Amino acid sequence: MSNDYYDLLGVNKSASDAELKKAYRKLAIKYHPDKNPGNKEAEEKFKEISEAYEVLSDKGKRAKYDQFGHAAFTNGGRGGPGGAGGFHDPFDIFSQVFGGGGGGGSSIFEDLFGGGGGGGRRSSASGAIDGADLRYDIEIDFEDAVYGADRRITIPKMSGCKSCDSTGCEPGSSRITCSRCGGSGQIAMSQGFFSVRQTCPSCQGAGQVVDKPCHKCHGEGRVRVERKLQIHIPPGVDTGSRLRVANEGESGVRGGSNGDLYVFIHVKQHKIFKREGNDLLAEMPIPFKIAAMGGVVEVPTITGKAKMKIPAGTQNGTILRLKGKGVPALRGGSRGDMHVRIAVEVPTNLSREQKELLEKFQDSLVDSKNHPRKVDFEKKASQFLKEK
Ligand SMILES: [Zn+2]
Ligand SMILES: [Zn+2]
Repeated sequence: MSNDYYDLLGVNKSASDAELKKAYRKLAIKYHPDKNPGNKEAEEKFKEISEAYEVLSDKGKRAKYDQFGHAAFTNGGRGGPGGAGGFHDPFDIFSQVFGGGGGGGSSIFEDLFGGGGGGGRRSSASGAIDGADLRYDIEIDFEDAVYGADRRITIPKMSGCKSCDSTGCEPGSSRITCSRCGGSGQIAMSQGFFSVRQTCPSCQGAGQVVDKPCHKCHGEGRVRVERKLQIHIPPGVDTGSRLRVANEGESGVRGGSNGDLYVFIHVKQHKIFKREGNDLLAEMPIPFKIAAMGGVVEVPTITGKAKMKIPAGTQNGTILRLKGKGVPALRGGSRGDMHVRIAVEVPTNLSREQKELLEKFQDSLVDSKNHPRKVDFEKKASQFLKEK
């Protein structure tokens, strides 16, 4: 999953529109489901390259993708209802590029695959149309990503019409033979010297059309609904994680299968913790005295307070580890650790008395014993200056 779109199409980042189109055409022909019946992998690949082409062939989307990658590529707002955008049906993309489908023009698709069946799955013998996959972007809190959460979401989508039982026919009426193609589902189009058989645009190859359209769905067999769903976000997800909810995409019509819903996760930043894989990182200021003499400090972890031992002579930037206080691993495995980066805080706003104490303290120091790094540095520096 989340393959790079350029890699998917086998082009480099500077590819021109023509190169993109060429690459897509080649792959689309190779992986088209009608050429690979029953091959789930090919179908998946076909969807992926269609998605990649859809994004990269659009200047605006491509720029967005170049800047943010998959994770930040959103349709509509983040999180809230209306965040659902949805890629187009891969077969729509295919038709656009190859010029087949609804309108005029010869279908390259039919030329390549020997015709007969018509322009792809959208117009199979029964006129079944598969529902498109949907995308929903959700923003979740840092803790929810770590522990998992259940969320109710609302997605606007096309769903089977109850009024006509998804047939598109007004109750009491039925489908009649398509007058344009006489029921064959195909029509002949002449193109210069050639006559090309093409899927009938009136019935989309079904051979039948709705006589009296259903008043609710206007003959489409589907209506727009607000679908409420409960989704479970497993612990350990991160920005860029994608959850698939089978069958919750757009409804298919006339026996077509439903699309899937893809929920894209975006994790909000935390005030204290940063995430690095399954490890958590926090920067914690400690007083100069504790850094010098050592001691025990209280550290906030994702599960609550923990005590951490600071060794005497701890330097600024030292990273200390709290084992097992990180993020649970997504698919089993071991939990991450928490790393605490020590920031030694130099005291500020000193009073006169404090300054005097510090002067006294400084006078008591012996470089060779108390400042080994300073001594080491000065040695290197004088050597360097001598050689110059
Ligand atoms: Zn209806
Ligand atoms: Zn027809």
